[in-house]
Amino acid sequence: MELKICHIYPDVLNLYGDRGNVLTMKKRLEWRGIGCTVAELPLGERAALSGFDICFIGGGQDFEQGLLLDDLRSGKGGEIKAAAEDGVAFLCVCGGYQLMGHSYETHTGERFAFIGALDMETVGARERMIGNFAFETEFGAVVGFENHSGRTRLGGGVKPLGRVIRGYGNNGEDGTEGARYKNVFGTYSHGPVLPKNPDFCDAILAAALERRYGRAELAPLDDFSEREAHESVLRSLTGA
Ligand code: GLN
Repeated sequence: MELKICHIYPDVLNLYGDRGNVLTMKKRLEWRGIGCTVAELPLGERAALSGFDICFIGGGQDFEQGLLLDDLRSGKGGEIKAAAEDGVAFLCVCGGYQLMGHSYETHTGERFAFIGALDMETVGARERMIGNFAFETEFGAVVGFENHSGRTRLGGGVKPLGRVIRGYGNNGEDGTEGARYKNVFGTYSHGPVLPKNPDFCDAILAAALERRYGRAELAPLDDFSEREAHESVLRSLTGA
C-alpha cells in the first residue's frame, strides 16, 4: 500500500512549522509499513489533484493569501475544489483553511474571493485571536496554537470539526472550531498540529486509506511522547 501526499503552496503558505504535518503523516504511514510519496505544488504550477490521496495546505498571513488569488483563479482553485468533492483527504490550516471557503474580507477592507470548496465565509477584525487552544472532536481533544484576525462562520453545507474547550476557534463566539466536509479537515490549529495529536493524524490517514483501498487498518504505534506532549498542553489549558 502507498499514499500520495500533495503539499500545496509550500513556498507561500507555511507558518509555525505547518510543514511538520506532512512529515508526521509520512512517518506514521511508514512506521506501519505503508509507503508514502510527497509532491510539492508551488505557486504557478498545476497537477491532477484527484490522483492524490491527501492534500495539505498550511497557513499564511493576509499578504500571502492575496498573492495566491490569480493562481487560484487561473484554474487551480477549481481543481482543489474538484479534488475535495472527489473525496481526496485535505488538511487545511488557518490561512489555507480560510482559502477553502467562499471569501475573506480582511480587517483593512480587502475582499478575497476564494474557492468555495467549503461553505463558509471569513471576515477579519483588528483584534487578533492568539494563543494555545483546545477543542473536542469525534477523535478526542485536539490541542494547538491559533493566531488569526479572521472570524469564520460556517454555512449549512459543512459541519464544525469540533467544539472549543479553551480559546477562540472559528470566531470566538459560537463555540465552533474548524470545518469538516467529506474528507476535508479544516482547522485554525498551527503548531504544527499533527505531531501532538496522533488521533487527529490517524483520522486523516484512515479517510485517505478508506478512499484508496476501501479499508483502513492502522496498527497501533508507540505514541508515548506524542501523548505526553498532548496531555501537557491540555493540562496547561484546563488545569485538569
Ligand atoms: N491571514 C489570516 C488571518 O489573520 C490567517 C493567518 C494565519 O494563517 N495564521 O486571519
